[in-house]
Amino acid sequence: MKTPEAKTGRVAAALRRIPAIESLLNREELKALTDRFGQQRVTDAARRATEALRQRIQQDPDTEISVSSLDREIVMLADAAAAFSLRPVINATGVVLHTNLGRAPLGESVAKRVADIASRYSNLEYDLEEAERGKRDVHTAKLFAELLGAESALVVNNNAAAVFLALNALAEGGEVIVSRGELIEIGGSFRIPDICAKSGATLREVGTTNKTRVADYAAALSERTRLLLRVHPSNFRIVGFVERPRLSELVNLAARSHVPLMEDLGSGCLENLSAFGLSEDAEVGESLKAGVDVVTFSGDKLMGGPQAGIILGKRELLQKIRKNPLFRALRVDKLTIAAIEATVALYLAEDYGAIPAQRMIRAPKDAIARRAEALEASIRALGGFSVSLQDGESVAGGGSTPGQTIPTKLIAVGDAQRSADELATALRRNDPPIITRVEDDRVLLDLRTVLGEEEEREIVKAFTRLAVARA
Ligand SMILES: *Cc1c(COP(=O)(O)O)cnc(C)c1O
Repeated sequence: MKTPEAKTGRVAAALRRIPAIESLLNREELKALTDRFGQQRVTDAARRATEALRQRIQQDPDTEISVSSLDREIVMLADAAAAFSLRPVINATGVVLHTNLGRAPLGESVAKRVADIASRYSNLEYDLEEAERGKRDVHTAKLFAELLGAESALVVNNNAAAVFLALNALAEGGEVIVSRGELIEIGGSFRIPDICAKSGATLREVGTTNKTRVADYAAALSERTRLLLRVHPSNFRIVGFVERPRLSELVNLAARSHVPLMEDLGSGCLENLSAFGLSEDAEVGESLKAGVDVVTFSGDKLMGGPQAGIILGKRELLQKIRKNPLFRALRVDKLTIAAIEATVALYLAEDYGAIPAQRMIRAPKDAIARRAEALEASIRALGGFSVSLQDGESVAGGGSTPGQTIPTKLIAVGDAQRSADELATALRRNDPPIITRVEDDRVLLDLRTVLGEEEEREIVKAFTRLAVARA
């Protein structure tokens, strides 16, 4: 019989046989690891691996002590510690501009352009003709003028920053007239009344939630008025007994009263997308043509570019915005400018297929269905999954109007041994993670937002792993 004293003795003896950290690390096997991960990380991993072994020995003094299995554990721990936190994921949700998944993926040529500019010096603020200091705005202003007829352009960190900066520069200390039907909240606690208050402007609400007429704006005008603001309702929609002034009516009122009109377009479509089911998204070019003085929108929503807030409009007003000290605090870096320039260049070349968000929104249901059929067959062939195709709807997302959907074909998957939630969790834990929807105890995959064959192969591999794990 083993007495407690005997166990204590054997534990002590076993613990003494654990190699010292120093001697573990000084071996060739781990030296290479140090080159890869750095001394500190490998030392930490070695400490944690030996500590875990020590605890196993406390439980069971007969635990095998093997240097090679310690090595394996150290490699695993160092690997895990070195893994990036921000990782690519496969978006199978069918939400094209998914804010939690990074909104618009950049086009390949755009990403390449960003990489080129990132690792080298550039003429970011250098006028190559005059050999003197230049402005970073020039690179994008020319293109927005060509594409949308914008007199002038500025780029800041995001559209929230654009609205905040413009309100501060144009209306601080005065009043901004906004319809009660447009006092919206966008996700992430961006509320028009709050942003207005922070900018130092006073909100002058007019009309009612469902009806505002141009006469309501006119009646609110006073010597304190600095700006008329129109906000795209983005992520919500009022239907029924509704009235909103036409843009031309507001433009006329603004011109007559010598108060600028600003429009926060939110998603800001650069091309008409009504043929693809998105008829309610306001077009930037249309607003400028109608005579809106300042237009703001996001770079990474329907435009399909990088995160940015784009301000287009009348030169004089944009100069005032640019001179505001906040502009310096909210400006973008060279990577964003490179990405915007390259994205707008694709619009000018009418190469919408090279802009992933545009390509996905424009993809016909038939094309999605063909890809879905092939993937369905591959998953079915693995066995153990019930797979079928069903009609469904993709959405643009990123604050585009609800109710505007794009018809799609979904792959519905059930698993013999897992609930739909368990299956979705397993897919999310895949490397790369696969994000899906769950409905009626089925996992739904929408290939509209799956980027291409490579990601489709990853999805099949993930299901293969799950099938093997079940066997
Ligand atoms: C999305 C949105 C914003 C915020 O834009 P970000 O680029 O996310 O900062 C502001 N206003 C409207 C109307 C929007 O739809």
